[in-house]
Amino acid sequence: MDHAHIETRAVHAPVVEPSAGKPLVTPLYQNHLFAYTDADELSAVLSGPQDAFLYGRYGNPTSRSLEEAMAGLEGGAAALATSSGTSAINTVLMALLSTGDHVIAQRSIYGGTYVLLQDLAERWGITVTYVSGTDPEEIRSALGPRTRLLLLETIANPTTQVGDLPALIAAVRDAGVAVMVDNTFTPVTCRPLEHGADIVVHSATKFLGGHSDVLGGVAVFATRSLYQTVWKQAVVVGSTLDPHSAWLTLRGLATLPLRFARQSANALELARRLAGHPAVTAVHYPGLPGHPQHELATRLFHGGFGAIVCLELAGGREAGRAFIEAVRVAVLAVSLGDVKTLVMHPPSTSHKKLSPDELAAAGISEGLVRIAVGVEHPDDLWTDLEQALAKAG
Ligand SMILES: *Cc1c(COP(=O)(O)O)cnc(C)c1O
Repeated sequence: MDHAHIETRAVHAPVVEPSAGKPLVTPLYQNHLFAYTDADELSAVLSGPQDAFLYGRYGNPTSRSLEEAMAGLEGGAAALATSSGTSAINTVLMALLSTGDHVIAQRSIYGGTYVLLQDLAERWGITVTYVSGTDPEEIRSALGPRTRLLLLETIANPTTQVGDLPALIAAVRDAGVAVMVDNTFTPVTCRPLEHGADIVVHSATKFLGGHSDVLGGVAVFATRSLYQTVWKQAVVVGSTLDPHSAWLTLRGLATLPLRFARQSANALELARRLAGHPAVTAVHYPGLPGHPQHELATRLFHGGFGAIVCLELAGGREAGRAFIEAVRVAVLAVSLGDVKTLVMHPPSTSHKKLSPDELAAAGISEGLVRIAVGVEHPDDLWTDLEQALAKAG
């Protein structure tokens, strides 16, 4: 290019790659095109996922690094990074389901997943049976000839119900049904693939990213063939994660075990203190011995019971609202998994449109507050919660 005109040289500026020395962390490949000199090589990359790249929607090296890291953490054969947690779930559903197929899903599934399933049911002819998520027999009797997928979550929101994954998964083992477990609430501490799941999904927006500055998702697969099927769908629907979000998520992963351990320890400490407070009528946290599935949670989760604590206030709806508006260290915001502690009162925010009866059916009392515990010092959090409880009292 040395003799080309200045416009041409400006466009074709040299791309410097290190001739020695490996980067210590994954570089941010903020580029969606890779150049080739051999047509056969280029066409091979179009045919399936591999460690070569040509166009961003098919994958990129930064996201691939995140995918390999997540496959390693979950003990899977391969993983797919997607533009959000919802997108991970949607891509799996679209890859595995056809019109007329049947899905069994836990009733207390994440709200966005429920909306997605209802949309598939109404517009694409998929049928869905909702089950409690605590009873293998109920799942077995829901099985039909077209059942393709069982959808579970490790800890239900906001009831904190824990399902017996090995037993629930065993209920469909011989039926040729794929099992997808949403592990967003228990990264690191629960590894659903070891309990027989075929697919694990995460909202990377939550604990994996950990700082509420990235929107992303990951699906991890027990087998490479399942991965390839879903990868093809991701290319078709365009659900690939962008490199910058992958890079931020990778940075988050480095401290995920540390953050999650601290968040779980903080959550347990706050749950214990809340349980002894006169303004609180109930605390839902799998780490408390009084939780209905405490024994099970001890078997399933290794190294902590998660960061989500739900409490019920004696003062009902008014108290719930007063509490979330009174916190000063914790922050009133949706979502979870952030380094900051976040509080929500579903009846006066996300579930405001539901009647008291509908709330009760969803297992949500009018005074229910969710705390997504962060990494702050537990004493500062407790001081904050105490003064908010006093205002809500
Ligand atoms: C947030 C969340 C999702 C959806 O993830 P997005 O990244 O917001 O699309 C799915 N499942 C659970 C359990 C979640 O908490």
